[in-house]
Amino acid sequence: MKVAVFSCKPYDKRTLTTFANDKQLSMSYFESRLSMETISLVKGFDAVSCFVNDDINAEVIQCLKQQGVKTIALRCAGFNNVDLDAAQKQGIKVFHVPDYSPTSVAEHAVALIMTLNRKTHRAYHRVKEGNFALEGLMGFNLEGKTVGCIGTGRIGAAFCRIMKGFGCRVLCYDLFPSQELIDQGCQYIALDEIYQKSDIISLHCPLNPSTHHLINKHSLEKMKDGVMIINTSRGALVHAQEAIDALYSGKIGYLGLDVYEQENKIFFEDMSSHIIQDSVFQLMLTFPNVVVTGHQGYFTIEALNHIAETTIDNLLHHQNDKNNSRQLT
Ligand code: NAD
Repeated sequence: MKVAVFSCKPYDKRTLTTFANDKQLSMSYFESRLSMETISLVKGFDAVSCFVNDDINAEVIQCLKQQGVKTIALRCAGFNNVDLDAAQKQGIKVFHVPDYSPTSVAEHAVALIMTLNRKTHRAYHRVKEGNFALEGLMGFNLEGKTVGCIGTGRIGAAFCRIMKGFGCRVLCYDLFPSQELIDQGCQYIALDEIYQKSDIISLHCPLNPSTHHLINKHSLEKMKDGVMIINTSRGALVHAQEAIDALYSGKIGYLGLDVYEQENKIFFEDMSSHIIQDSVFQLMLTFPNVVVTGHQGYFTIEALNHIAETTIDNLLHHQNDKNNSRQLT
């Protein structure tokens, strides 16, 4: 089976090569994303492997079909960037990696909380410049604070367990409450109550029409003044401009983002010599109480190894035509 790997960084290639070795897969690696601009690269391949920002819309899928591609093996959990209906219609199988390391993303959400709270991002620069003054660096104890978790699937559940370890009161909202989390002392309540009662709100639900711009001026109005919002899920869960308005008013006291709605134009690339053509994003970066990371929640050695191993397994399962629970179409 010939596989074209898109959005492939050197670290992806290293792990994929390790796990693809001796598996009768011929892998070709491309740094570019799969889109209509790069579709000509798929000629002669049986399968493609893609990541979070490849634009796999109906037009791309039609071209994949015309080129004889039978499989799309996503190297991520989320699949909001793939038109699954179109893939289904064209008979293209789509696989994802649902649970490569929930802990990695949950721990990154906690890293954002800790950074924003104890202001280590600011302390680091001060100390480098010989400034040991503490004014402006005051934090708060996490113990006893109320943390709201929206979406308690794999990552959300791992996040809740960590926050319970800090001694937080953990409130949850999900369409499907987890008995395991209830048994561990978490409490499921209505979404509005999460907004009203939480000191910290962390988003772990998928992006879909019902969660698009979940954090907007209306939901923000219901929250405590100075609330901390953490988004490690998908950028479009947060209305960026309305979050900025809330930062100006003080409604949001802390904002930690690992994802951003327009991230596909900037993330995963070295943009340090470019003028970023996104004034909302640029403005966001100017706030001292905002920390943005470039979609690195998943980026641990354990997660990368698991992604590579599962992606190879997904490709081989298709080749051998076995059932696979990671199959989306
Ligand atoms: P999951 O499918 O295990 O859990 C998602 C949970 O959200 C489910 O329990 C589901 O019932 C719930 N949900 C669905 N709609 C909801 C709604 N409207 N309101 C509240 N809850 C709702 O997924 P996961 O593995 O925990 O991943 C969560 C998200 O994290 C993914 O969708 C992906 O977008 C994101 N993610 C980010 C990174 C990163 O590097 N930052 C890495 C992996 C995944």
